[in-house]
Amino acid sequence: MTDSACLFCKIAAGQIPAALVHQDERLVAFRDINPQAPVHVLVIPRAHVPSLAATDPSHVTLLGEMLLLAAELARSEGLPERGYRTVVNTGKDGGQTVHHLHLHLLGGRALRWPPG
Ligand code: AMP
Ligand code: ZN
Repeated sequence: MTDSACLFCKIAAGQIPAALVHQDERLVAFRDINPQAPVHVLVIPRAHVPSLAATDPSHVTLLGEMLLLAAELARSEGLPERGYRTVVNTGKDGGQTVHHLHLHLLGGRALRWPPG
């Protein structure tokens, strides 16, 4: 369930400090240490899932809860009026650098498309 070498498992376990904005039995959310927008929050499962590519139908509830939490946090950050973006970088070409599933919530500025 957890990977003792994993940075985000350590954040979820409270072993490494982070600016938490939410925690419950299954999910933790915290501010990105290197924010790319005025609001940049990461939503992670407590369970160690290496990436979106490692998910299967057993993760359907977890994945739904991650998106719903992102929408709830976006509301509490005042983002829905202007809009926001949710991103799951996956694997090398996707730019994933931390190999524990996470959803980026970005908002507070106009975001470009397509991404680089
Ligand atoms: P990704 O590139 O999609 O794997 O995103 C990983 C994100 O984790 C990056 O945006 C990093 O800035 C962020 N990050 C790395 N270490 C920490 C940390 N200790 N606390 C908060 N965010 C972090
Ligand atoms: Zn992990």
